[in-house]
Amino acid sequence: MAELKRLSESRDLTRIERIGAHSHIRGLGLDSSLEAREASEGMVGQLHARRAAGLILQLIRQGKIAGRAVLLAGQPGTGKTALAMGIAKSLGAETPFASVAASELFSLDLSKTEALTQALRRSIGVRIKEEAEIIEGEVVEICIDRPLSGAGSAAASGATAPGKTGRLTLKTTDMETVYELGGKMIEALGKEKVQSGDVIALDKASGKVTKLGRSIGRSRDYDAVGPNTKFVKCPEGELQKRKEVVHCVTLHEIDVINSRTQGFLALFTGDTGEIRAEVREQIDTKVAEWREEGKAEIVPGVLFIDEVHMLDIECFSFLNRALENDMAPILVIATNRGITSIRGTNYRSPHGIPPDFLDRLLIVTTQPYTEDDIRKILDIRCDEEDVEMSGEAKVLLTKIGVETSLRYAINLITSAALACQKRNGKVVEIDDISRVYGLFLDVKRSTQYLMEYQSQYMF
Ligand code: ATP
Repeated sequence: MAELKRLSESRDLTRIERIGAHSHIRGLGLDSSLEAREASEGMVGQLHARRAAGLILQLIRQGKIAGRAVLLAGQPGTGKTALAMGIAKSLGAETPFASVAASELFSLDLSKTEALTQALRRSIGVRIKEEAEIIEGEVVEICIDRPLSGAGSAAASGATAPGKTGRLTLKTTDMETVYELGGKMIEALGKEKVQSGDVIALDKASGKVTKLGRSIGRSRDYDAVGPNTKFVKCPEGELQKRKEVVHCVTLHEIDVINSRTQGFLALFTGDTGEIRAEVREQIDTKVAEWREEGKAEIVPGVLFIDEVHMLDIECFSFLNRALENDMAPILVIATNRGITSIRGTNYRSPHGIPPDFLDRLLIVTTQPYTEDDIRKILDIRCDEEDVEMSGEAKVLLTKIGVETSLRYAINLITSAALACQKRNGKVVEIDDISRVYGLFLDVKRSTQYLMEYQSQYMF
């Protein structure tokens, strides 16, 4: 349990400030009747596909998606991954989202079924409720450099400086708590900038103090009970003692913690290796026990498999079975292929998917973006990456996006911002865009270049 807690805390830290290709996507951008708004929650255009995704969301919420999967079919860069992520985000902040390209499943280190199992378990969340003592209360007074002597002593309001001796009293009905926690709270003063009137929570087990916000009404009905100590009388029930802390982890994370001596750190190196079937069985039994005791809940997440035509017939039959499992995540697969051969067979089929699997699919198509959509998406990405760009530079970048690809134009934002930084500029201008456009080839120019100079390359 302690490892799970450490893991969920360290994951919260790594989430902060990480800008990924899809970090601007916060949902599907639908209104209450599940109609797609033109631009909302980081999503732009692709109205038809987003509306379809909204209906899928409804099926998921009503528990009617079991045994089925979603296929997103469309050209590269038309937002298939973004849509899958939008579905996950709409299901709630705790919904895990795992994304793999089918080709990643074929490696020398892991068998393909092990790689698929890991991907599936990365997209199944477990909400674990832990019995822990969290004490919440209102900070009534903070006194600095001054021994407290009676109810009338002046309170120092405002943030306290670290290193000063101080006393902080918590409005509580539990005197023991005040004694026990006083020291820890003072330690936290400098870090948390606690002020009188703040409501704080303290996890007794870890000693972690968290500021929860400001209280509404403040009672100053307190007594002095001993030198340098102040307690607060407050009506029964005002202090809240929360006995429950919730950690959200994935089944895969629990697997790794339990299968490796180095514990959860293996998750960050990615070097998780094969996980023995017995370990998983034990974990499934434990999680089932926790569920029965009301200590844990399963949060089915979204597993997104890109380039699904690269999966072979064995992978499809494995997935067919996996979808029947009552803990199955929502499977969203994507491809940009039409009729092609099913890997591992001599048969051809739509998207290279076997007919029995095709039968399970809800198919949604994505369309190429208009110039206006591209401009709006680039605008959102500039905001997301904190890049200030002049209007003319944005016009040029949009034009590049139309002529090359949306993804290429998005990539130019970061490199143009670096070029701008190098000349000590604050706003990305046309010249910065032109410079990086000259430095990095898009697919079309790269192909042209290869054709011109093919005699100089090896075959
Ligand atoms: P591929 O088939 O090559 O994997 P894809 O169809 O999955 O491509 P994405 O990776 O989702 O395309 O899109 C490329 C970039 O454009 C990403 O950064 C994505 O977040 C962004 N993007 C795509 N569509 C939208 C949209 N409708 N609104 C906002 N951002 C989008």
